Parts: sequence; structure tokens; C-alpha cells
Amino acid sequence: MDKATFQSTFVDELIGDPSMVNRSRQVRGACYSKVTPTPGSKPELLSYSPRLAEYLGIDRDWLASPQAAAVLTGNALLPGMNPYAMCYGGHQFGSWAGQLGDGRAINLGEWIAPDQSRWTWQLKGSGKTPYSRFGDGLAVLRSSLREFLCSEAMHFLGVPTTRALSLTTSGDWVTRDMFYDGNPRREPGAVVCRIAPSFIRFGNFQILSAQQNRELLQQLVDYTLRYYFPELGSPSIETYEHWFREVCERTAKMIVAWMRVGFVHGVMNTDNMSIHCLTIDYGPYGWIDNYDPDWTPNTTDAEGRRYCFGNQPQIAQWNLVQLANALYPLFDATEPLQRGLDAYLEVLTRESSNMHASKLGLLPTEAVEAIWQDLESWLPAADIDMTIFFRQLPSAAIGIVPDAIDAKCVLSWIGHALYDANALSDATMSWMIAWIRSYIACVRTQNRPDQERAIEMNCTNPKYVLRNYMAQQAIDAAEQGDLSELQVLLQLLEKPYDEQPEYERYFAKRPEWARNRAGCSMLSCSS
Ligand code: AMP
Ligand code: MG
Repeated sequence: MDKATFQSTFVDELIGDPSMVNRSRQVRGACYSKVTPTPGSKPELLSYSPRLAEYLGIDRDWLASPQAAAVLTGNALLPGMNPYAMCYGGHQFGSWAGQLGDGRAINLGEWIAPDQSRWTWQLKGSGKTPYSRFGDGLAVLRSSLREFLCSEAMHFLGVPTTRALSLTTSGDWVTRDMFYDGNPRREPGAVVCRIAPSFIRFGNFQILSAQQNRELLQQLVDYTLRYYFPELGSPSIETYEHWFREVCERTAKMIVAWMRVGFVHGVMNTDNMSIHCLTIDYGPYGWIDNYDPDWTPNTTDAEGRRYCFGNQPQIAQWNLVQLANALYPLFDATEPLQRGLDAYLEVLTRESSNMHASKLGLLPTEAVEAIWQDLESWLPAADIDMTIFFRQLPSAAIGIVPDAIDAKCVLSWIGHALYDANALSDATMSWMIAWIRSYIACVRTQNRPDQERAIEMNCTNPKYVLRNYMAQQAIDAAEQGDLSELQVLLQLLEKPYDEQPEYERYFAKRPEWARNRAGCSMLSCSS
């Protein structure tokens, strides 16, 4: 690693903040501020992603070295690293919030992988920057472990995401009032080294537009195109339109992937939307246990439920409209941007229907979409586990005449997924029976071999996701110095679609104790 050289095209090619003063302030006319990470008092590597390390061409011996712990916590730099915090703004919960920026994230530099692709390394939790506002620039083990595990889990689920190379502790304590209710506690400070092509967000463009800095806005767009969308052609008005459309389409695909696996981001502010259309900024995210489109894990959003599971497609569209507004000065016309926004809806509709059909093991038709809509109307009333329900579904449609289906059959197929079978009303049971009958009838008309159907379903419906309580158990153990659960989950979640009988215990409903426990069903932005 001593011989490897990092690049810093973002710093070299874009305008930076002339001031080096590392104190919270407004920064105008710049894409970034140069900063030095704050060293931890005793950096220690807790875990790393072996798959990502391998892909990036990073030696395992190096990762085990004291130098790696130092670099990955912010205590040392490797040749070519030129650390900086990005300036960005954003809409938070629907309102323009002005300048936000990397308040506790520091980009180290760009690494060229063996396949020649470019990857920015970013430390999250390594100290204050000019964008820290009232924050301390730090992160705690609880939230860092959640980000580390979940971003890797999402990758292996096939969901576009930033990655996480490592999880380290700084050796320092960080005080957090988890629910902002006057109960602060000291938690271990931690740092995640996140990896993505770049960490450019919708908000990076928004802040320049808000500052009416058309020139720098265009420079940032041109930079983004040159380095990260070269296949679209050299920068021009046509390329800008093509690019915005591409961002809309990729965002639609990312959202469809979230809906497929039951992921709820929790804080879809425009500063948390990546221009690469990757899931970014894992905070109070959560996974659907009982299927409930109104559910949000984020207590800060409990009242308005703006970012609940079922709203995510509309919110992404709203965020794209904000990006379109920011890019308007480059076009001086709304039509090209409107065409991109229309493409979002087209792709969202098409990909959603394909995803629904695939979850049901059916070929996409209008009739299948109607079956899906019908399913969505009773799933919430049944209080049924999303992951287990879809994983059990292949066995429901084998060798039975639809008319012969009764409550007993239904319970034998999917009873395991119900949170409270005794609470199931007769009306809901009748609804379930009617649905399964029409589903099986449809399966029969499509006449695909059972095995082929089951294989498709099992590649679409994961068996294992990072349920909130699972992450919490790994956190409780890690805070006591026991990393075994973290390692088990890291390994389990590398193959979320495989049966993995040795890990069958994780193919289970959320336990009752976790229903209302902090960290398991309630999370805040405090991290
Ligand atoms: P988030 O809700 O994590 O997307 O963060 C929103 C904004 O607050 C971003 O600009 C973050 O960099 C900033 N922020 C969050 N936590 C901290 C912290 N502990 N110290 C400094 N800035 C923070
Ligand atoms: Mg953020």
C-alpha cells in the first residue's frame, strides 16, 4: 500500500474553499474544503469486508497491519491522499435547509481498482469539518456497525449501494442522547471507511444553484460526466439531458430494488441521494418485518411518515424534481428535464411490474399486476412477515386444485409468517384464501415448470435480510467487546438468497422482545 498512489481529481479539477480554517462556517463558491481528519487515541480495526477488499485489490496482510487501522480511522494518510469535505445543501423533510455538507465525513482520495474503475474512499466519523455546524464530527459504534453491515448486505442483495471497506474504533468516547430526551450516554467512537465511485449527491448541485453560481454548477456537472458517465459522451446540452434522464432511470431502479427486499431508508432528504443512484447514508434505516407500507423506523418522522416504506417511490420523484430545479440554469428550458422526470415514472412502472411478477414467480402481464395489487390490499391486515411470506410462497402453488384450498392449507403454507395467527379475522382469512386461489389459478395458466418458478422466486425473494433486531444483537455484543455476531452476520449476508441451513435461526420472524425496542423498531437520526 505504501507504493500505491491515490488520485484526487475532485480536488485537482474543481474549485475549493480558499480558507483552511476548520470551524463551522458558510462556504460559498467552492465544491469542497480541505481538512485533516482528527486522529483517534487508539485506532483499532474491528472488521473489514473481505469481498470488497479483494475486488479493490487490497492486501489482507495490510488490512491486519497497524498502518491500516491508522489510515482507516483518520490517523495517517497514504501517498496521494488529499483529504477534503464536500460542500452540499439539501431539502430535509421537504424544506430547503441551505448548506449542509460533509459534517462528519472526510474524503481521502480515489483508488484505481485492478479493473481500472475509480473508487473514492471516505471516512465517516473522523472529526469536525467546516460543515459540522453544531455536531462533533464523530460517529458511534452502534450506527457505524449498522452502516458497515447494511451497505455490504445491500450489495449482496443486488441493490445499488455505497460499500463499506472497514469498521474501526477510535478509542475515544462519544456522548449521544439517542432519543433527544435528556438521557445522554457515552458510546464508543467508531469510523466506517465507505467506498463509492464518488460521494456526489443531489445536494452538491443544489447548493451551487442556490448560490446562483452557474459556472461552478456547470463545472461540477462536466466533471461528473467526464469521470463517472463517460459513456454518455462529452459534455454538451444534449449530454446533460441524457445524463439527467439516466439519473432518473437509475434512481427508479434503485427504488424498485428497495421495495423488492423491504428496505426503508428512513431519511430520503435530497442530500442523501447519490448522483450515482446508490443507496447512501445509512442512518435510521430499517427492514420491513410485518408487511406495512406505512412503517418507518425513523422516530423523527413518526408523525408525518414522509419517508415510510410505501412513500419511497414518490419521494424519490420529488427529490428528482429538486435536482431538476437545480440543473435548470444549464438548460434554460423545462422540457428536457421534464422528459427525464417522465422517464422516471415509465421505468418505475415497468420495473415495479416486472419485480412484482418475479416475486410471485409469474411472467409479467396486466393480470399479474392485478394479483399483486390484490395481495397488497390484504397483506397489512394479516400482520404477516414479508420476507418469510415470499420465501414460502413457492411451496404454496404445487399440486393443489385451487378450489380445494381452505384455511388449513393456508396456515400450513404461510402460518409460519404470521405474527399472531389467533388474531387473524375470518374476513382476512377469507381474503387470503380467495387470493391464493386466484394466484394458483394464474400460476397454472402460465404453465411454467415448478422448479423454474421456484428458482426465479428464490433469486428475487431473499431468505436473509439484516432485520433490525439482528443488527442490534451484534451491536450489544460488540459494545461488550464480542465481535462474533458481527462476523456471523457479515458472512450470512454475503449469500442472502442461499438456503444456508446452518443459519436457519435467522430465517425467523422478529422476536416479540424486539417489537418496540429502541434500535430494533425505533431509531433516531442520533448517530
Ligand atoms: P444525515 O442526517 O446523517 O444525512 O446528516 C445531515 C447533515 O448533518 C449532514 O450535513 C451531516 O454531515 C451532518 N451531521 C450529522 N451528524 C453529524 C455530527 N455528529 N457532526 C457533524 N455533522 C453531522
Ligand atoms: Mg446525510
